[in-house]
Amino acid sequence: MTGLVIVGHGTRSAAGVEQFAALVERVRGRGDVGDVEGGFIELSRPPLTDAVGALVARGHRALVALPLVLTGAGHGKGDIPAAMAREQQRHPGLSYRYGRPLGPHPLLHEALEQRIDTALAGADRAGTELPGADRAGTELPGADRAGTELPGADRAGTWVALIGRGSTDPDANAEVAKVARLLWEGRGYAGVEPGFISLAQPSVPAVLERLRRLGARRIVVAPYFLFAGVLPDRIVAQSAEFAAAHPDLDVRVAEVIGDCDALADLVLERYAEALGGDIRMNCDTCAYRVLMPGFADKVGLPQRPHDHPDDPVGHHHHHGHDHAHHDHGSVAVVGGGPGPDDLITVRAKALLDAADVVVVDRLAPQGLLAGLRPDVLVVDAAKVPRGPSMAQEAINEALVSHARAGRRVVRLKGGDPYVFGRGHEEVQACVAAGVPVTVVPGVSSAFAAPALAGVPVTHRGVAHDVTVVSGHLPPGHPDSLVDWAALARARGTVVLLMAVDTIAKIASVLIEHGRAPETPVLAVQDAGQPGQRSLPARLDEIGAVAAREGVGPPAVFVLGPVVALTTTGPNT
Ligand code: SAH
Repeated sequence: MTGLVIVGHGTRSAAGVEQFAALVERVRGRGDVGDVEGGFIELSRPPLTDAVGALVARGHRALVALPLVLTGAGHGKGDIPAAMAREQQRHPGLSYRYGRPLGPHPLLHEALEQRIDTALAGADRAGTELPGADRAGTELPGADRAGTELPGADRAGTWVALIGRGSTDPDANAEVAKVARLLWEGRGYAGVEPGFISLAQPSVPAVLERLRRLGARRIVVAPYFLFAGVLPDRIVAQSAEFAAAHPDLDVRVAEVIGDCDALADLVLERYAEALGGDIRMNCDTCAYRVLMPGFADKVGLPQRPHDHPDDPVGHHHHHGHDHAHHDHGSVAVVGGGPGPDDLITVRAKALLDAADVVVVDRLAPQGLLAGLRPDVLVVDAAKVPRGPSMAQEAINEALVSHARAGRRVVRLKGGDPYVFGRGHEEVQACVAAGVPVTVVPGVSSAFAAPALAGVPVTHRGVAHDVTVVSGHLPPGHPDSLVDWAALARARGTVVLLMAVDTIAKIASVLIEHGRAPETPVLAVQDAGQPGQRSLPARLDEIGAVAAREGVGPPAVFVLGPVVALTTTGPNT
């Protein structure tokens, strides 16, 4: 009979390892499978290689490998198959069929239901009772007292927060949402809301607060976890903190699913399915296969074996950081748009939401930083130490070193990263360092600032060209690469960036080379910000007007016949 190897991720929790071992023993005891072993891909003993080695030593050449995971994320989709591939190299001729992740499955939902009922029935029986709950004062009108009725009797007054591990893989997070819905269906709870203990939103405090606002008085926090571990402990701690801050609420935490008959039944079902069926993961929403916003870097990514510290073949792999630790680091040089939070692209926002480190410029949309997970490292590029000439080098170094440490780095810049943003220098630094890097274009202030001030940079019959020019170096500067005489001769629109200090000189040189002195100009300062203002002037007056009115950065100057079309409206 085909042997079964049950593959766990591994945990630092001794209780978790014990529960895993007990489940392997329970499955073995059923006698439905001839030969069963369990092993971990990291952190815990025995390592997978020992488990497979034992089965091979007993003569097995074909196995079922069952990932003991609830949802298909990095471990199930990548790490475990990669570890099995290494075993195949080690044992030529070894073949294996790969089982599906365990959830969602009615057996699991029933187990969760029982854990919730046990928590409802009172902390004296099981579950974790949290401080601060004043039972007598928390009953809803008509609800039966917890602990005195049959489990389930007071479900109508109970909200459930189903807390998953959380993943950088949206498909896995969606599975938790699906389980929350399936758990709710037909069971009579007031509601079941999904949340996550790491990497995804809503967090435990956020989902508890959401339930509180929905009017919940009694909440059972149900960890969607197989076994004890660091993350389930964290769920208890965060729930306790919330409960202590809200003594009027009755908050309880249910046990993890744990070693139980339902789980053994499910393992055996997945084993039979792997042997006889056509096993497919849910490929439709797999980030390794389908381009999803913010996950472009995952498509087609090769899977690599995860190193087990106990595996003599692998090198040591430390988990100093509990995010994205299976990803290899990367940098995304991202255009943030002209400033407002909602003028960033969807792709940029998704990358930002998944970032571990954000290196941000002063002109990037600062408001978005407030929405980052609390554990995201935000580096203010304007405050990078060392002198100004060294700053760019220091930024490049920061990008490369964070990515090399395995982090997802977002370099958040104002406007478009390639429009006077030095974005390409950063890309080149990453390429030179061998760090994967992508660019996400942004809405440049060169076009956005005029638009927000009511000026179209082109218009049919008025301007068929628009030139975006840096005013950083004044005309005549030895390093200037701009042909000011040609710009003066052209008829169309000129948008000047970084020209607050040079506008008077630029205007006079343009007039000198042939632009009409009466050419209309609009200075647009702080475009998109609450303090946005525009100042119109003729070309021969703009220098004096800007100085008199104290135009300061960030500002663009747009000049040419289109400025005569300026509309005033909601934007302006
Ligand atoms: N990469 C950026 C430009 C960087 S250079 C982009 O594509 O927008 C910085 C210059 O951009 C500033 O000196 C100013 O001229 C312009 N700028 C950026 N944000 C602006 C804003 N909100 N309003 C007006 N000008 C802005």
